[in-house]
Amino acid sequence: MNSRVFRILYVLCLVLSLSALVRQARLYAHNCAAINDGQISDAGELKRIAITFDDGPHPVYTKRLLDGLKERNVKATFFVTGEHAEQCPDIIKRMHDEGHLIGNHTYSHIQLTSSNREKFSNELLKTSEIIKSITGEETQYVRPPYGLWDKSLEAQLNMFPVLWNVDPLDWCTSNASKVARSVIRDAEENDIILMHDYYASSVSAALMIIDELTKEGYSFVTVDEILFD
Ligand SMILES: [Zn+2]
Repeated sequence: MNSRVFRILYVLCLVLSLSALVRQARLYAHNCAAINDGQISDAGELKRIAITFDDGPHPVYTKRLLDGLKERNVKATFFVTGEHAEQCPDIIKRMHDEGHLIGNHTYSHIQLTSSNREKFSNELLKTSEIIKSITGEETQYVRPPYGLWDKSLEAQLNMFPVLWNVDPLDWCTSNASKVARSVIRDAEENDIILMHDYYASSVSAALMIIDELTKEGYSFVTVDEILFD
């Protein structure tokens, strides 16, 4: 190989190596900026978060919420009472058909105490039956009202409790923006947000939260994905 050809090849290799280095540097800078902006986690994925709704379904507000979730292609988790599920079976069916996760919130929103364990268990079983009769599927997830639970019920009923770590107390205000601001301020990756689809303001707040956190790089998933993946 004469020296001219060698020089040309040498320069070509140098140019190719330099352009590969520049590409790598650009990619690195882009990823750092995205991590700093909070758009992706350190592992390079969207940050997962779950939004959950208790006490429904409500004949008007839950439908409005489901419309908003569908428009945004967001999946949520609903902990329904047996009593409300019986009153709105069409909404339970729609939740299931649209890919949301349905959990059990007892039949009459009963609080577990030291003296009503059997009644509490019966309410959970009755509610599971109602949900299964509408969706055709067993529900394994329980949101115990007021967060009170007895671990021995898990094996006895084959049900798993789902608590929460972001609680904006949406049920005690009608100020949707205030509720939304509080969740947006506190939310972090893998959080479980507690809200209630039984109030118009909570539904408005939930949609504001979803829009803002989606912009911040969060991906909304059902609670099973947060708890078991
Ligand atoms: Zn509740």
